[in-house]
Amino acid sequence: MILTPDLDLTKGMILSTLRFKMGTVGTPKSTPKKPGGSIGTIQYLSSQGLGALELGWVRSVRISEATCESIKAAAIEYHVDLSIHGPYFINLNADKQEWPKSRKRLMDAAHFGNLAGATDVVFHPGSYFGRPANEVLNIAIPRLQDCVMELRANDNQITLRPETMGKGALLGSFEDTLLLSREIDGVEPCLDFAHLHARAGDGSMNSYAEWIKLLKTYKKELGGKAAQRIHAHLSGIEYGPKGERNHLMLNDSDFDLAGLLRALIELDCGGRILCESPEHMDEDALLIKQKMEEILQDRS
Ligand SMILES: [Zn+2]
Repeated sequence: MILTPDLDLTKGMILSTLRFKMGTVGTPKSTPKKPGGSIGTIQYLSSQGLGALELGWVRSVRISEATCESIKAAAIEYHVDLSIHGPYFINLNADKQEWPKSRKRLMDAAHFGNLAGATDVVFHPGSYFGRPANEVLNIAIPRLQDCVMELRANDNQITLRPETMGKGALLGSFEDTLLLSREIDGVEPCLDFAHLHARAGDGSMNSYAEWIKLLKTYKKELGGKAAQRIHAHLSGIEYGPKGERNHLMLNDSDFDLAGLLRALIELDCGGRILCESPEHMDEDALLIKQKMEEILQDRS
């Protein structure tokens, strides 16, 4: 089909108002076997019209400086924004013996992530171990502050992003991540919208009105600039009274995608939305992108 100038213009308008880049956490199954690895994933996502990748360094950080260099070069060439998902075994509330190991995992992710051209490191902040949130945060804040200070002393400007977690027993409520971010320059939340919905446990946190309220709080507490660079995870999710059970494809879940996207547009938010759906996360990332473009088009 030959595009008429009118259609071209419409497309241009959509692109200029789409303030989010969409992508995946890790490598989608449909990525071709060759060249494979992170570089193959960057090339594949770009070929699909996706513009962000969160590298899943979730077991450990084992990567050479040379590999980081080539990942960075590929990301620049293919216009894909990079972030890192740090190892699962990080706990800001670890005991005194364990904390140095947790800290090293986070710092390694930040060091090699920075070399690979990533701007953000997402991590699971830890567990309450049954203690009240404020007690745990009193331990977590100075520890995380100290990490950022060391990074900045080493000329590393990467943003550390504690993720909102899907279970009530875990450090990482929306309020916890807001407080960590307010207290420490260089820390901002990773808003996992599926986890926020699942953590409520009763089907709430799933409507336009609820997302507007949450995003208004985000803007008020962290400022308009932070709302322009939101780093989000999104997928379908199955949950019970205690929260998250497992991730689902969006269309197999009760998640109100349009409600969330409308709220993000309404409050002029921007940034990245990374999809973590099982099986075909690239398809869900494209679904999110198309849905957002449709909503933008209907408004214009
Ligand atoms: Zn995560």
